[in-house]
Parts: sequence; C-alpha cells; structure tokens
Amino acid sequence: MMKGLVTTLILFCLMFSVLGCAEQTPDFEIAFLETGDSDCIVIQTPDSVIMIDTAYDSSFEKIKTYLDNQQIAKIDYLILTHFDKDHVGSAASIINSCEVGEVIAPNYEKQSEYMTALSESVQAKKVKYSKISEDVNIELNGVRLWISAPQESYYENENNYSLIVSLKYEGYSFLFMGDALKLRTQEFVNYADFEEWSYCLIKAPHHGDYSKPIKAIYESCPLQYCVITTDMPDNVGNKLIELNKELDVKPFYTFNGDVFVAISNGELKVSQR
Ligand SMILES: [Zn+2]
Repeated sequence: MMKGLVTTLILFCLMFSVLGCAEQTPDFEIAFLETGDSDCIVIQTPDSVIMIDTAYDSSFEKIKTYLDNQQIAKIDYLILTHFDKDHVGSAASIINSCEVGEVIAPNYEKQSEYMTALSESVQAKKVKYSKISEDVNIELNGVRLWISAPQESYYENENNYSLIVSLKYEGYSFLFMGDALKLRTQEFVNYADFEEWSYCLIKAPHHGDYSKPIKAIYESCPLQYCVITTDMPDNVGNKLIELNKELDVKPFYTFNGDVFVAISNGELKVSQR
C-alpha cells in the first residue's frame, strides 16, 4: 500500500517536472526580416509577440506571409522607433490585418501619407496608441523590455527621436538601436546600465551607419553579434566593419537574407536563410 503510494507520488513528481521543464524552455525567436534598407523585427516570446518597426509599405506582403507562416494573429506590442517611411511604411496595413494590443512610439509629430494611414487604422481598430517621452519598462513572463525614450523634446535630425529597445530573456540581452545617430546614441550611452544590460547582440543603428559612441557600447558589453539591416553594402560604415572584426563580433547583414536568433534550452543560436 505504502509502496504504491510512493510510486504514485514519484510518478506525479516526474510528470510535474517534465511539464515544468516544458514551460521553462519555451520557444523564443527574433526574426530580422530582409526588407531592403529598412527595419522590421518580429520577436516571439513564450506568450507574447513584439514587433519593432514595419519596413516600407512595399514589404507588407513579405511581413504578412512571415506572420501567417508563424501563425501569429496578434501582436501584443508594436513599437515604432520613429516615423520615417522605412520604419512605419507597413504599420497601417499591419494594424488593419492583425490584432495589435498597443502601439508605442516616440512623442513627436510628423505629416506623411503613412502617418495619416497609421492614425486612421489606429482609430478604426481602436488600438491603444502610446506616444512616450519617458522610458517604459514592461515585464512579460520571463521577458524584460526596456524602451528608452529620447531625452530631448526637439531634434534637428528625425532619426534621433528613435526609441531604443532593450530586451532580456534567460540572461541574454539584446539591443535594438532604431536609427539613432551620434547624438541619440551618446545620450543612451550616458545613462544605460551596461552591467544590468550586458548585451550580446546589437541591431546596429541607422542601417550600419557608424558613430563614435557605438564604440562605447562595444567596449562596455560582451557583444557577440551585430545585425545590420540594409540592402546597400556600400552604406555600411567601414569603421563599424572594422570594429566588428577587431572585437570579434559576428556581423549579419539582412541583404543576405532573414536573420534569426533563437533560444532553446538556454542556448542561443543565430542563423540566416
Ligand atoms: Zn531607417
């Protein structure tokens, strides 16, 4: 009788630990889609989907095909780093065709056909639209998201309004720089906590443009990978190419195809196809 009870108890514990394991090692994937000289990054965490930027409007079919293949019907957070058309081009179409939980964008105004379409789709679908001028921190079942807002209320160059996104999962930290130029990158370097966020991967700012403060990020973090979103190899800064070589950081260029970062069983793998 006692033996039976013990066996049942052991079986129960085994079952629980297997189930527990399955829950602790869910799929996590970041896809940097090949969308030309533009950004569209899809992040699938254990129970949520985050998209950073939406590329040009001409890339919508490609993005939608990827979402459909991944069976993604809901994007919990759509982060628009800034309002240039290579970042917001497909935003309205995505909002019109998927469920979007919340749009997060920097707090400035821009007039363009894409912004008009975006605000129409936000209104039509009654999507929460947060324009932030202060940092936002979000916790999502094992995932930490830090969205750094621009510190100034006005920048001459629009790229400097870029939201800079940090994401941490299972001890791996990822940095998405939007199109931050020198001024905004320096601003970020001045207050980022690189001990807390010891990035292993950087999405290079502004399609591979180099500016001096990028070096400070490289020198403060155990970077292993650099993703550069461009179809124009000539536009990638020579100094960025050299920096990657010098510090043994492996570059991935989206002109060679989609770039995937996957974590399973605590192991990180980067691939391209
Ligand atoms: Zn851009």
